[in-house]
Amino acid sequence: MSNLQISPLEPLASTSLYLADEAATEHLAQSLSDILSHYFSNSYEKTPGTEKGAKVYLRGDLGAGKTTFVRHFLRAMGVKGRIKSPTYTLLETYKVSSLYLYHFDFYRFTDTEEWHEAGFRENLGEDAIVFIEWADKAGPGLPTPDLELYLIYESAGRTAQFNAFSEKGKTWITKLIHRKMPTGDQ
Ligand code: ADP
Ligand code: MG
Repeated sequence: MSNLQISPLEPLASTSLYLADEAATEHLAQSLSDILSHYFSNSYEKTPGTEKGAKVYLRGDLGAGKTTFVRHFLRAMGVKGRIKSPTYTLLETYKVSSLYLYHFDFYRFTDTEEWHEAGFRENLGEDAIVFIEWADKAGPGLPTPDLELYLIYESAGRTAQFNAFSEKGKTWITKLIHRKMPTGDQ
């Protein structure tokens, strides 16, 4: 078990890797985009009774690369045009074919009920891809994510740690590892 793990829940799987520069972050985002595109285009992979969609919560200090990761992910999914950080708007919505992608940033929340009042719970229940920066500002009422991506400053680059909290999140981490990326502890 890695000592970088910060969530109170025990992850079902974890992997970490070093991202020397933004190009490495872009490569990782493209890999996750491939894996999730495949997941959403193959409904047979979806087990009845399991929660819909993909929820990925991003953790890490300001400037750690959360928005950069999501931006490269959205590009890899085929999103065109400007991709803004949702720091001020709280939510940016995208649609690729029939798939919705939500990019939240809760940094400006001052109390944990704000996301409820803003009506965001509905988005979280959809069969969509949901990224949330600063999810911890929404408090414990937020659903458990499938994946948590924790970005940590390390020398000139970043360490990325993925933690899975659902069975499907675990299969996505397994796929990431199988892409023969330079992983650390698993
Ligand atoms: P956050 O959303 O976490 O506050 P941003 O994505 O807005 O952070 O900013 C991250 C900054 O770090 C950008 O300037 C980006 O170019 C840079 N960056 C992203 N990934 C890496 C990396 N792996 N190594 C070095 N710099 C990176
Ligand atoms: Mg950001």
